[in-house]
Amino acid sequence: MHEYSIVDSLLQIVEEHAQKQGAKKVVKIELKIGVLSGVEPDLLLRAFELFREGTLAQTAQLIIHNQPVIIKCNRCGKESNLGDKPRYLCPNCNSSDIQVIDGEEMYLTSLELEIEEENST
Ligand SMILES: [Zn+2]
Repeated sequence: MHEYSIVDSLLQIVEEHAQKQGAKKVVKIELKIGVLSGVEPDLLLRAFELFREGTLAQTAQLIIHNQPVIIKCNRCGKESNLGDKPRYLCPNCNSSDIQVIDGEEMYLTSLELEIEEENST
């Protein structure tokens, strides 16, 4: 499944980051998933629950934000939110000369770590 490999690499990035920071565990992971990214949030959550066992993110909370499609019109320059059913037309001037500026990718937006306090004197 597509989502399995996504979660697998996500956990690798998260663990790498946590280790660099000297964290003992990951508290919260926040993701932004573009509606055009082809990632199913439900499947991703299920895969996460399976894969997190034995990692620093074992008890982490995974929060998924759905990112609607944002386009920028090349004709009138207006940015528009097309929601999750994009028609690839500028709602302002009906031009099809547009570029998608958000909603296509998946990003890790926030990572909350629990860091072990160092005993400094
Ligand atoms: Zn326009």
